[in-house]
Amino acid sequence: MMAVERKTFQLGDVVKMKKQHPCGSLTWQVVRLGADIKIKCTGCGRLVMLPRSDFERKMLRVVTEVQNDG
Ligand SMILES: [Zn+2]
Repeated sequence: MMAVERKTFQLGDVVKMKKQHPCGSLTWQVVRLGADIKIKCTGCGRLVMLPRSDFERKMLRVVTEVQNDG
């Protein structure tokens, strides 16, 4: 049985999106969490805000998790 991949993420995580940004980057960093999610393109630094439901639909997975020891 395949495990269902849960789309959990937290502030500071770098996530991979389904669609490539015009600058060529596929990864974005989560810079704000709330009803709306703000992400920053890791390629060009562009900031984009989108509804959480939209974000969850467009993201593939977390590629770099924030280290949260302690
Ligand atoms: Zn970009």
